[in-house]
Amino acid sequence: MGVDLCQEACHSGPGDGVAVYVHIPFCVRKCYYCDFNSYPLDDDDGDGDAARAYVDALVREAALNGEQLAQRGLEVRTLYIGGGTPTSLHARLLARVLAGLGRNLPVRRDAEITVEANPGTLDGAKLEAMLDAGVNRLSLGAQAMDDDLLARIGRIHRVGDFLESFAAARRAGFQNINVDLIFALPGQDLARWRETLEAVVALAPEHISTYNLVIEEGTRFGRELEAGILQPVDEELDADMYQLAIDYLAERGYEHYEISNFALPGHSCLHNITYWRNEAYLGLGAGAHSHFDGKRYSNVLLPGDYVTRIEGGLSPVAEVEQVTVETEKRDTVILGLRMLRGVLDSEFYARFGIHLREAFGPEILELSNQGLLRVNEDGDNINNIDIIALTRRGLFLANEVFMRFLP
Ligand code: SF4
Repeated sequence: MGVDLCQEACHSGPGDGVAVYVHIPFCVRKCYYCDFNSYPLDDDDGDGDAARAYVDALVREAALNGEQLAQRGLEVRTLYIGGGTPTSLHARLLARVLAGLGRNLPVRRDAEITVEANPGTLDGAKLEAMLDAGVNRLSLGAQAMDDDLLARIGRIHRVGDFLESFAAARRAGFQNINVDLIFALPGQDLARWRETLEAVVALAPEHISTYNLVIEEGTRFGRELEAGILQPVDEELDADMYQLAIDYLAERGYEHYEISNFALPGHSCLHNITYWRNEAYLGLGAGAHSHFDGKRYSNVLLPGDYVTRIEGGLSPVAEVEQVTVETEKRDTVILGLRMLRGVLDSEFYARFGIHLREAFGPEILELSNQGLLRVNEDGDNINNIDIIALTRRGLFLANEVFMRFLP
């Protein structure tokens, strides 16, 4: 059942540690822009039959994979419980998930353990359950510090709820908090975006993520766009908002370490860095993905199907894809360029036995000539590149850069 870790030699050697993602696919209701694998809860307090059955299945999947990790001598160095809204579960169920993961997975004592939490679903009992279980990082979905915009995008909370959640988390003892923000919301202008940044920075969270709104098909916003009801923010304003975030957050001590992520010194998200370094990770839960030694696995998407499979003693894995070395190389460059430090030739060579210039010489030259890539040459060897990284201009045109590395 699950990803067969015993038969798959993964990138991480014994003792290196792996990243584990755990998906909770429930929310109070669907936000208008959301195309994540999330579903409204079947009851108000997050303790209904569907949620309970799901949590039991999740703990069983963790137990099966935990045994295999332990047999291989692999420890969990980061654990990320995301969704959906993990805190939409009742405190009792949230505690059961956390205890089940802690009991069944070989989690390192110093592991980074994150839970995503949404204002309007957080209370003292849930905060306590998380702290008791060793959760040391909270990711709060604020999205905007503006009640009109929050209503317009279908969030269940208002600014006051976010402020209460943030204060309660601090009082409870959380010292590492991320705040998620979205810009380029319909009706948002530069001044309103600046107000959101100011209000969030005033709280001094350790980490801030800022994503621009992407309107996806199949969402309420997608339908509104098609019907001509929704007026998307134009590209120029979108870019101005991103620029403002970069400058404003840098001036206030936040290091811009990934396209959409900013952190006070020492507070980058270790879990997400695993993805950007294209390293091994294990995903548990409905729709979760795993990446181990040349293979990508996806679990069945629907929570009901996931529970049925686990209860029936079947693997929840719906798809397995063999990733060629060529694709691994491309993914490593594309994902690595998301980080502002870029891709180091020494690491690329250690992994693939080939230098960046040999693997992607023409692409790197062209992008560097266009001013989209910064290339640091190795002083000792003019044939080699030391580091490639996005330039400031490249940050704004990152998708174009990534496309260039595709076959
Ligand atoms: S809270 Fe997040 S996962 Fe849930 S519906 Fe809203 S955007 Fe989607």
